[in-house]
This record gives sequence, C-alpha cells and structure tokens, in this order.
Amino acid sequence: MRDGHRLVKIDEYENLIGSEAVERIIKKADALKDLHVVHINSTYYGGGVAEILSSMSLLMNSAGIKTGWRIIQGSPDFFSVTKKMHNALQGGEINLTKRKLDIYEDVVYENAVRNHLDHNMVVIHDPQPLPMIRHYKKHGPWIWRCHVELTNPNRELWNYLSPIIEKYDASIFSIREYMQKLKTPQLFFLPAINPFSIKNQEMSEEEIQERLDHYHIPTDLPLVAQISRFDRWKDPEGVIQAFKIARKEVDSTLVLLGNIATDGPEGEKVYDSLIKQREDRIIIISRQDTALVNALQRRAAVIMQKSIREGFGLTVAEAMWKGAAVIGGNVGGIRYQIEDGVNGFLVSSIEEAAERLVTLLKDRKLREEMGQKARETVKEKFLMSRLLEQYLDLFGSVETIYLLR
Ligand code: UDP
Repeated sequence: MRDGHRLVKIDEYENLIGSEAVERIIKKADALKDLHVVHINSTYYGGGVAEILSSMSLLMNSAGIKTGWRIIQGSPDFFSVTKKMHNALQGGEINLTKRKLDIYEDVVYENAVRNHLDHNMVVIHDPQPLPMIRHYKKHGPWIWRCHVELTNPNRELWNYLSPIIEKYDASIFSIREYMQKLKTPQLFFLPAINPFSIKNQEMSEEEIQERLDHYHIPTDLPLVAQISRFDRWKDPEGVIQAFKIARKEVDSTLVLLGNIATDGPEGEKVYDSLIKQREDRIIIISRQDTALVNALQRRAAVIMQKSIREGFGLTVAEAMWKGAAVIGGNVGGIRYQIEDGVNGFLVSSIEEAAERLVTLLKDRKLREEMGQKARETVKEKFLMSRLLEQYLDLFGSVETIYLLR
C-alpha cells in the first residue's frame, strides 16, 4: 500500500471556521459513534449530488462515523423514466403510465434485493432510489434527501410519490421554498463544497495554464465559462446567445465545459445540439476533468450559470469560492448564493445576461470586488463543515425520536 493515504479531517477547517466550531462538531460526532450510516443515490459522478456525497461520506468517516455510499444500478429504460420524473418535479409534464411505474418500481425492488441494508441510519438521495424503503424492515431512521428544484412539482407525480416519502422519518430539501404538504418533518439544508478537493483546492498559475493548454483553450482574450452537465435546464443555448450579443461590444472566448451523468440520458442529445455551434471562440468540451473545472473557475473573467431551473447549483459556490465573478440565473438555489449586484449578478433573460457580461468584461475592478465578496459568502455559508454539522444534528435528533417511539 502506498504511504500517505489520508482523509480530510474536520480539524483542517479550523483556519476557515475557527477552533470553537471545529470542537463543537467533533463533540457532536463523538456522541454518534455507534451509528452506521449509508447514503444511496443513482450516480457516482456527473452532478452535484455525487460531488457532495464523495466528500461527505469520507468526512463522516474521518469524524468517526461508519458511513457508506452506495449507488443503485438501472437500465437505460429506468433512467429514462427517472429523468422524466426529475423533469416533472421541476414543473414539466409527464405521462405517468403503468409501464413507466412498473419499470421504476421493479428496478428499485431489484436494487433493494441486492443491497442488504441493516444500517441504523439510511439517507436516500433523490427520487431514483426513493421506493427502496418499501422493501426493508427498518433498523433506525430513514431520511429522504431531495436535491431537485421543487417550486412547482407536477401534481400527478407528487401525489404518487408523497405516500412513499411519508414512509421516511424526515425529508430534507435545499431551500424553504421547496416545502411540500407532507405529514412528516421537513428540513432545509443548503448544499456545500469541499475546499480541499481537487476541484476546489489552490492551483498555481502554471498548473492552470497547463490544463488550459492541454485542451487548446486560447487565453489571449478574457475567458467566459459555464461548467455544467449538458442539460436543457442549464440553458447552454441561452449562454451561447448571450455571448454572441455581448461580443458585439467586448471580445472574449466562451468555454462550455460539460459532462453527462450516468443517470442523465438526455445529455447526449443536448451536447449534439450544441456542437453544431462550435467556432474558434466558442469552445465546447465534453470531458470529466476535475482539475480543468478548477482551472477554468480560477482563470475565467466571468463564470456563467444561466440555469432556468436549479435545485441549488453547486458550480456557483465552487466558482464563488475561487473569487470568480458569477452571472447566475435568477432561480432556485442560485438565489441563495448570489446577492444581485453584490457578490455576482442574477439574470432572468438572455439580454440581461449579455448586458451583465459586457459590464463585467469591461470592468476588472468590479469583477475583483464581486469575486472577493463571493469567496467570503462561501466561507461563511457553503463549506462542507456546516453541512456535516447539520447532518450530525439531524442524526442526533431523529435517532432520539426513533428510540423513544
Ligand atoms: N461538473 C464537473 N464537470 C463538468 C460539469 C460539472 O465536474 O464538466 C460538476 C460541477 O463542478 C459540480 C457538479 O458537477 O460539482 C454539478 O453540480 P450542480 O449542483 O451545479 O448541478 P447538477 O448537475 O447537480 O444539476
């Protein structure tokens, strides 16, 4: 075994959150050492949920709580149904046929058979594995953590899902606006980033340049970048249009970097529709390269996240952490990160995005001021230490309630 394997420990957050907070978290974790926790979701990479779970599961282990992370497997049919469900939860239409529900329920059942969950704390993420709860005898609390935008979920789908959701001891949503009519408790946890991961750690100018050169990204003009799964809700098309309007006034290079999650079957189609628009100054890259994400978020003059629906938008916090000036869609969780005109801009149309892009590209000082405030915002609100503490508080309280029943 190679020497030097190490996990990020909560102590390492001390410089960022102070020793008092670190000690408080350690104490809370110590009180929960008998727990055996498992997180379950449907993809190991390619989206904010996987990003959070890969760090959070390790941080929980380093805090002394045995924590697993499992992924459910599914056929393309299954992920096509769950993607439709995801879209419908974000307000789209769905034709909820018996065939679709059979695929959904059968595949979840098969996963329940394969996974032998005897943990005393189970956290199920998002709708894909939601019905697993039907197939187990519980050995402790089960929590449903939903990362999807839920401002206006499709009613028919919600009516089908809510009796399953109510089997859980509690549900967690990203923001209060996503609160639903449920008989069970609802909590609100804003997501968070790991400042020590390859994606977010410091990089030297040479390392940044090396990554950009590797992908032949020219740096003679300012860079504008959006880093997102290829997904229509992220509005990459709108970003290209805003860029085209803005460049009539200020020249820059646009980079759309994206990936396709294993549970996101529409990604290929979105990517194919975009590559037709490639030009010298419109660079579209489909590649999972974590260091490139970091490099772009650090080097870009402006980061865009022009989503039209967004549960939270972890890429926004990631870019803000690096002191980037971010233009974000005025939707969902992005609103909780960007304070318009203070630490970034919120936009509601292509024209507004173009206008803000011009303003930022022309004004380096404004970019720097906003970027600095953006970093402060993340330090205060969006570090993984805060999310860990919220989970610990929840585990402590649901465990007590469960045992008292
Ligand atoms: N991401 C990445 N490579 C890409 C595009 C996205 O690593 O090419 C990461 C991004 O850095 C972030 C996550 O995927 O960590 C996206 O999370 P977000 O909450 O923004 O959106 P989601 O994909 O979950 O809807």
